[in-house]
Amino acid sequence: MRPIFRCAALIAMVAMGKLVVLADEHGPPVKHREMNSITPAAESRAVVITHARLIDGNGGPPIENACVVVSGDKIVFAGAQTEATIPDDAITFDAGGKSLLPGLFDSHFHSRDSADRPIQYELNNGITSFRDPGHPFKFYDWLDRNSLTIPRVFLCGGHLDAVPPAWPKQAVVIESAQHAAAAVDAHVARGASAIKIYMRLPVEHIAAACEAADRHGIPVTAHLELIRADAAINAGVDGIEHVTSFGTALADPKQAGIFEEVVGNDSNARREWRPRLWSNIELENNPRLKPLLDQLLHQGTFVSPTLAIFESRTGQKNATSVTALAFANMLRFTELCHQHGVKIVVGSHTAAPFAEQGKAYLREVELLVEAGMSPLEVITAATKTNSEFFGVQDRLGTIQPGKLADLILVDGFPDKTVQDLDNVSRVMLGGNWVDPQN
Ligand SMILES: [Zn+2]
Repeated sequence: MRPIFRCAALIAMVAMGKLVVLADEHGPPVKHREMNSITPAAESRAVVITHARLIDGNGGPPIENACVVVSGDKIVFAGAQTEATIPDDAITFDAGGKSLLPGLFDSHFHSRDSADRPIQYELNNGITSFRDPGHPFKFYDWLDRNSLTIPRVFLCGGHLDAVPPAWPKQAVVIESAQHAAAAVDAHVARGASAIKIYMRLPVEHIAAACEAADRHGIPVTAHLELIRADAAINAGVDGIEHVTSFGTALADPKQAGIFEEVVGNDSNARREWRPRLWSNIELENNPRLKPLLDQLLHQGTFVSPTLAIFESRTGQKNATSVTALAFANMLRFTELCHQHGVKIVVGSHTAAPFAEQGKAYLREVELLVEAGMSPLEVITAATKTNSEFFGVQDRLGTIQPGKLADLILVDGFPDKTVQDLDNVSRVMLGGNWVDPQN
């Protein structure tokens, strides 16, 4: 990760002619803040969760018979029940038989202008923070004004693309390096906590966007395909959305060139040509693989594979031998990233072909386990690593004193059987219990 991104809290910036100080004692740095207002629990109120099986997000083994004390919207104690000091007037919740985890993060969620989806698909499933990667701000302003209880929403604003944009309504069509930097400044002034670039943006404009984002101390994440991942990472991107963004960097250069020409002429051709490209990627003796993995590791790039949207297996609906082989290679590449120590995060992409409605996130965590991550590693990817990707690890992502009380209770043992993440029984957001609304 670039050092400037790490020390963002110390930076002051000029936005819209006014000096804006990013960090003060009143809250998190402006640039790493959710766009919506989460009502914090009253400061005088203490809630104690007892007898829980604590999975704190740091990746260590669960603590059996644990206790977490929440005061207002903050965690003040997390550890063994026997060591807890319980305030006299605390409201106690006995979590015997349940696992207690940090609220989950979804790094890739499109609400597509539905007010229900952030609640039904995300909050009710234990997702207390999500990033919508590339959506105009207007809808979320409206959602916040309606005072609905929704997860913490982190936004990128419209994604930065070039002519002809794949999604005209969600895109800002960039014409020059100066324009790329100005678009980043405008998005940040409007509340963006990350920048998303899309598949046609040329490398020089990616570099300009990254430089501007660095000045604001926020990350840039990318859906690539037409731009090679190694070049985009060299240009400064911090995150890669979709395993398919690595296709042209891994494929035989001649085949990558054909893909770039065909999809360059017609964005819609990517749906047919993506599996073609991936079915031909050789991962076992590939001279491009190790340098790419090394680059991801050394740059600290976050990878959000969104495997669930590409799932295809022999015998499944719409599967061909090409799509099934392509998906097997995507799973294998994700496994190789993980084995190499690359930072993997969890993104649902809202819907997936073999997930029930609202359960794409669950399908994604199952597939990450299939790709060789342990259930506990997937939980860490979903919480702590994602909070780092969002730049909010100072206040969210793990259960430790001083952090905000975004917590979930799960029936069962999700660190052993990741499917148990489907059994979220209670959700706490900012110290308040959110009743399941389904
Ligand atoms: Zn997307």
